[in-house]
Amino acid sequence: MNRLFDTSLDVNLRQFYILVICGCLGNFFGFLGNAVIYGFGSGTVFCGTCALLIILSSFYGIHFGHTKRASYFMILLLTFIEFPLLYYIYHTNTIVYMVLSISSIAIFIPAAHAVILAVLAVFCDVFVVFFSYYHPAPWAVITEQEGFYSTICSLVISLFCVFMVTLLLKVQYEKQATDLRAMGEQLKNAADHDALTTLYNRRYLNGYLEQLIQQKHADFYAVLLDLDFFKKINDTYGHVFGDEVLVAFSQILEKYLPDNGIAVRFGGEEFMLILPDTTEDDIRRLLQSMRSEYKQFIKMKKNAMYSFSSGVAQYQTGMEISALYSLVDGKLYRAKNDNRDKDVF
Ligand code: GH3
Ligand code: MG
Ligand code: MG
Repeated sequence: MNRLFDTSLDVNLRQFYILVICGCLGNFFGFLGNAVIYGFGSGTVFCGTCALLIILSSFYGIHFGHTKRASYFMILLLTFIEFPLLYYIYHTNTIVYMVLSISSIAIFIPAAHAVILAVLAVFCDVFVVFFSYYHPAPWAVITEQEGFYSTICSLVISLFCVFMVTLLLKVQYEKQATDLRAMGEQLKNAADHDALTTLYNRRYLNGYLEQLIQQKHADFYAVLLDLDFFKKINDTYGHVFGDEVLVAFSQILEKYLPDNGIAVRFGGEEFMLILPDTTEDDIRRLLQSMRSEYKQFIKMKKNAMYSFSSGVAQYQTGMEISALYSLVDGKLYRAKNDNRDKDVF
């Protein structure tokens, strides 16, 4: 039963299981009902043969993996042989199976074939109804009580099948909807974040700044930080350690970042902080805390001295995002040219 709800399995396979459960149980109980109500006459033998064929084709589909072939076989057998003949033999109380078969065509057969099969099924069913009216089966004189039990039997089997199919399709649909939602969130998360550091990426930053700037009195600072001599870190200690430094530096940024700010990986070893509603003094203190912790980290790991530089600018109303980037970039450039390890405001 668990496999029916396991969305990691192929959807067609799970649909096949539904068909197998309904086909086998429905036919088996149909055969039992026939045997109890009418005894072991030709109708019961016919039902038993159909039940056997359905069970065998279910086994064939599951065991050999030919689920598509088995589905077609079962539905063709039920729609064009078993159900029309049951109607011919027992009349009105089995008509409900015809409704079952048309819905199973819609559910289990691919759309292109389903339309053709459904049209044929309608012709076949209507033909049998007419035919049995004008040429009733000579042996089919059933008592009122047999008809009553047969109706109950057909009703219960049909209700069971309709309920099972509907329930299982609904569960499947709900699971897929949940998976889709989770996948959407994962995708959005991946689109907005940098894979290595898990900080926001530049794509997210652009959207965030556009929104921020749309506010009438946007008041924020942008800080562009660049690790000093990072290429040397890579060259001396290897890229793996370089990555470790990037991750550690990102964690330091997040640790000191105020609640209303965001930290972004701007490019390779460049990062940007967006800090709303703050002052230059606060930013100076913030950068000093980050700097001393970064230096401590490298010292502890490699007993070496590495620093970062930054450029800090306040957003001016009406400024383009690209102009803001150029502004902080210019200030960072000045910090680099002034022996690095500095913040230029
Ligand atoms: P400066 O002080 O002037 O900034 O010098 P720098 O060496 O830090 O700057 P440069 O632009 O010469 O080198 C940056 C290096 O960062 C080069 C590149 O290989 C490395 N880098 C970029 N992205 C990654 C990454 O994801 N992982 C690692 N390990 N290295 C990276
Ligand atoms: Mg750089
Ligand atoms: Mg650098």
